[in-house]
This record gives sequence, C-alpha cells and structure tokens, in this order.
Amino acid sequence: MRKKIVAGNWKMNCDLSETKNLLEGLTQSLPNLLSAEVIVAPPFTNLQFAFDNLKNRPIHVCSQNINENDSGAFTGEISVAMLKSVGVNYAIVGHSERREIYNETDELLKKKVNQSLKNNITPLFCVGEKLPAREAEKHFDVVKEQIEKATFHLSADEFKNIVIAYEPVWAIGTGKTASPEQAQEMHLYIRELIAKKYNQTTADEVSILYGGSVKPANAKEIFGQPDVDGGLIGGASLNAEDFVAIIKSF
Ligand code: PEP
Repeated sequence: MRKKIVAGNWKMNCDLSETKNLLEGLTQSLPNLLSAEVIVAPPFTNLQFAFDNLKNRPIHVCSQNINENDSGAFTGEISVAMLKSVGVNYAIVGHSERREIYNETDELLKKKVNQSLKNNITPLFCVGEKLPAREAEKHFDVVKEQIEKATFHLSADEFKNIVIAYEPVWAIGTGKTASPEQAQEMHLYIRELIAKKYNQTTADEVSILYGGSVKPANAKEIFGQPDVDGGLIGGASLNAEDFVAIIKSF
C-alpha cells in the first residue's frame, strides 16, 4: 500500500550505547501525530534493543540486509527467521554499498526480494545509477534493468508489497543531492515502468522513496514532488534532531 515513509539507514554506525542515545533522542522529540511511517535500520547487533525500546512507539525496525536462504551453513549470515524473531518487518535489499562492496548481483537480489516477501518482511529495494551512467544519460536504462531483473518476476499482488528506493549513487554520502526535478523525473519513470509491466493501480500503490544526501534543508522540496513518497536517509538519520526535522518535512 502506498504510504509516506521516512527510513533511516544507520549503516555500520552506533554501538549499543550510541543506539540507546539516538533512540532516546528520537523518541523524545518525535511528535505524537506522524504524517509518515518511520523506520530505523540499526546494525544487526542492536535490532532487538531497538525493537524492545520502540515497542510502544510508531517506529518500525528494519534490517540493512537479509540472507536469501532459510538456514544452514552460511557462516556470518543472518536469516529472515532470526530477524523476524527480534521484531524486524522491513529489510533494505540491494543498497548500492552492498552491490558495490559485496558484489551483490541482480540475480542474488531477486532471491533476497523473494525471501523477504515469502516471510512477510517488506523489502526496501534500492536502485540507482552511478555518475558515469548519469553523465552518459543512461540512468533510466540502469534503473530499468535493476528493477526488471530483481522484481519483475513478481505478480502484481506481490509487487504491491515492495517499496522502491531510488538512490543515485553519486548522491549517497556526497552532500550532492539530486534536484527535486531529477528525483521527480526518475520516480515518475519508475512508476510508469511498473504501470506498463502490471497496471496503473499497482503502480499507484507502490511507495517510491528518494535517497541521497537528504537533509532537513532539502527534504521538504524533495518530498513535495508528486511521485516522491518519502526518503531513505543515511548520514542525517544518525542525528535525532535532523532525522525528526526530516520526518516533519511532509
Ligand atoms: C543511504 O546510504 O541510503 C543514503 C541515502 O545515505 P546519505 O543520506 O548519507 O546520502
């Protein structure tokens, strides 16, 4: 179901005491009435702590990655069942850092999307082009291929249960944001792609988030675009004041 979402990707930041402080800051300043669904993605080790401390708050807990297998000899990996047992109901799948640094391919991400949906965890499926592709005006092609290869095997009903995050790689952690027009143009393109593959109803039900150097100063304008349903926030989600200001930008 399409909704406004603000998700914080903490990446490999925040030990237990820092997690405690950040969550305290967040819950203290978060208004009672929220105009968006709020999600936080702390590191694996702090998911249970986050879930226990957010139980009575309208904040969902998300993992930054999932494994595509049910269980077994996969040393160092975390299964979906383990994540569910500590209250996780969202998972970031295909973040550009996982694609780049850990060589996650479209084929693997397809399995992760499946594993996530099979277990009722909503995937925040990330797509986005690198700078050379943007400069060569190939950004639409890149995003199309990423979406097609990892998600277009789904039925329309299944597709409605995923969230897409458009994150141009050149804007992640660089302080360079896509302009509101660039974000809107890509989000509309993605929605039209979904409509073409499935139908307009399905396309209208999918939340499409923007990610890439969103800050309190630019959130309002980006979130104000008709096809932008919220944001996946990295750096600014590590500061409670900034994250809350971004949430209040709707
Ligand atoms: C991200 O890593 O998903 C992200 C959007 O990071 P930042 O907001 O720091 O650019």
